[in-house]
Amino acid sequence: MSSVAALPLFRAQAFVQGEWIGADDGATFPVISPSTGERLASVPDLGRRETRRAIEAAASVWPAWRDRPAKDRAAVLHAWCALITAHREELAQLMTHESGKVITESQGEVTYGAAFVQWFAEEATRAYGDVIPSPSRDRRLVVLRQAIGVVAAITPWNFPLAMITRKVAPALAAGCPVVIKPAAETPLTALALAELAHRAGFPSGVFNVITTSQASEVGRELCEHPLVRKLSFTGSTAVGRTLMSQCAPMLTRLSLELGGNAPFLVFDDADVDAAVRGAIAAKYRHAGQTCVCVNRLLVHDAVYDRFVDTFTAAVAGLRLGDVRDPATQVGPLVSERAVAKVEAHVADALTHGARLALGGGRLDGLAYRPTVLTEATPAMRIAQEEVFGPVAAVFRFGNEAEAIAMANDTPFGLAAYLYSRDVGRCWRVAEALEYGMVGVNEGLISTEVAPFGGIKASGMGREGSKYGLDAYLELKYLCFGGIGSA
Ligand code: ADP
Repeated sequence: MSSVAALPLFRAQAFVQGEWIGADDGATFPVISPSTGERLASVPDLGRRETRRAIEAAASVWPAWRDRPAKDRAAVLHAWCALITAHREELAQLMTHESGKVITESQGEVTYGAAFVQWFAEEATRAYGDVIPSPSRDRRLVVLRQAIGVVAAITPWNFPLAMITRKVAPALAAGCPVVIKPAAETPLTALALAELAHRAGFPSGVFNVITTSQASEVGRELCEHPLVRKLSFTGSTAVGRTLMSQCAPMLTRLSLELGGNAPFLVFDDADVDAAVRGAIAAKYRHAGQTCVCVNRLLVHDAVYDRFVDTFTAAVAGLRLGDVRDPATQVGPLVSERAVAKVEAHVADALTHGARLALGGGRLDGLAYRPTVLTEATPAMRIAQEEVFGPVAAVFRFGNEAEAIAMANDTPFGLAAYLYSRDVGRCWRVAEALEYGMVGVNEGLISTEVAPFGGIKASGMGREGSKYGLDAYLELKYLCFGGIGSA
């Protein structure tokens, strides 16, 4: 028995229409721990047919779920939130095993993920419509906000819990049933969430989880089935483009949270120690494997050496080790492919003249040394593409205009960060950065109360906040005529 099979929330079947099921043909695929290489579970490898059944089950319960009073839907979401919170430790363990995320970050993710459920439970009861001042005496104009219909969610491995709750909590709150396809690397957290959703009282068919290794087949069904009215995806820009084209024939609505290439600007008037603390948090979280992780540190000439020295010393102090140990700060990468990409980026940077200030090279298994590269330039691959690993590249700039131009010189536009103590500069630069989110003297910006999302090749749509429910609601305008006068 694997080390997670004994956990009470361990489930190794897919969850469709309120039942735990296998694949029609009995096929399974393995879930492997990135930190130990252990086979944690075998889960059903569902295909298009089972996905279609899940969509149809969801569609059949949609009217009943949609028509429940918002307060009732909110009560089920609150119950789910309470269960997630009560099982924080166990969910964190599952997540750490299957994703290689260090345990303290997994615990933090459960809290972060549960916060979306609570927030949208509250928002469910505030999906107000509008009354429009009428242009004529004889008419009354009203706008309703109504649930969009069955929602499909395709989620990545790097946030096995929070990327699900950030999508499905607003969908469920709005009155939409969901069909979730978690990443093949991390299905166990999704299945544990399904078990808790079931206990919380979501009716059969409202919450479905499709486990599969056939992402493109299942993805096609989720895009093309006419009963799916909305697809919400978090993952790579390449897959986002594929999904967008697949959604075109049915005009399926889309929210896309795609890749980033986050710049982190440190000006000569910055509090350098604060900038270093922010950069460590924004770079080395989940070993650099989040889409808002810093990819390019842009530092003013005048503070370059001081920043590099302090930053490198702080990176050298990061603790690697067993991901289950609360003292460990940096865990392994998710796969051989991820390690190979990091190695290629570092080799490319060194060939193009970067200096290795710290690290370089892999450790045991899938771990890579926290690495600092200085004298990075826009010609390097790392300037153009997300490294998605614990490698920090430090670039140089000479003035504000140059910093802004360098920061915006990418097709991506998810998160950016800037450090300066000049309030005018903070405003100017924050407004000029072509990004969906900007941290000003702050390295950790995600919260359920603020809109998360990107522009340009980083996607479309916003998750969380008072805007997050809109993705799952359609406006309906009612025009009442023949009112007459008393
Ligand atoms: P990452 O590099 O983070 O794995 P991906 O975009 O490959 O990013 O994966 C994110 C999610 O998209 C995962 O659930 C994955 O299984 C899914 N996915 C990958 N390819 C496709 C596809 N062609 N159609 C639908 N989903 C896909």
